[in-house]
Amino acid sequence: MAVVSLQARCVFLGAPGAGKGTQAKRVAEAVRLAHISTGDMLREEVAAGSELGRQAKSFMDGGKLVPDDVIIRMVQDRIRKPDARAAWILDGFPRTLPQAEALDRSLSGAAALTHVIYFAVPEAVLVGRLSGRRTCSKCGAIWHVENQPTKKPGVCDRCGGELLQRSDDRPEAIGKRLEVYRSQTSPLLAYYRDRKVLREIDANRSPDVVYKELLKLMQ
Ligand SMILES: [Zn+2]
Repeated sequence: MAVVSLQARCVFLGAPGAGKGTQAKRVAEAVRLAHISTGDMLREEVAAGSELGRQAKSFMDGGKLVPDDVIIRMVQDRIRKPDARAAWILDGFPRTLPQAEALDRSLSGAAALTHVIYFAVPEAVLVGRLSGRRTCSKCGAIWHVENQPTKKPGVCDRCGGELLQRSDDRPEAIGKRLEVYRSQTSPLLAYYRDRKVLREIDANRSPDVVYKELLKLMQ
């Protein structure tokens, strides 16, 4: 198995359903680096009923982005924690140009981004992936009713936890999320291409094939 540089500081970029979260989890289990998922962090805040969680919930349920200043502060605090000092993957952030610019400002010199990996998947495929996705309420494992079913429907194979459909994976929110992605996140491709850190991966293939290529790209 290839070994990823421990100095990798990556952004995983791509539309909702492109497989960023699944791959980031897998890489973080294989190599010692922090997987920083802003979606998971926000969902934890929502579950805990915190002030941030209450603010975030109304945006997420409508398939909208949580405001930049809220997310930026949350990510900056997270990157300063001890486990994220050497290496990390940002999954779900940045999603807008102001977020990308704020990230660049907070990471100077030796701490700058090393890779931005773009997960390319056709839109029709994304819709099928998102609508069938189920997440374990206990351990966070991600499943799919057709592509990656559990042995017992609705129950996590790993920990026995209950599987839930995220509120933003419901049909009414999916179209909105893809529209937000097209208008706000896809401009980041040009931004990172100009900075010569962008790498593209064809993510419309099996997770194992994507994973192997990803490790090569992150060297
Ligand atoms: Zn589980």
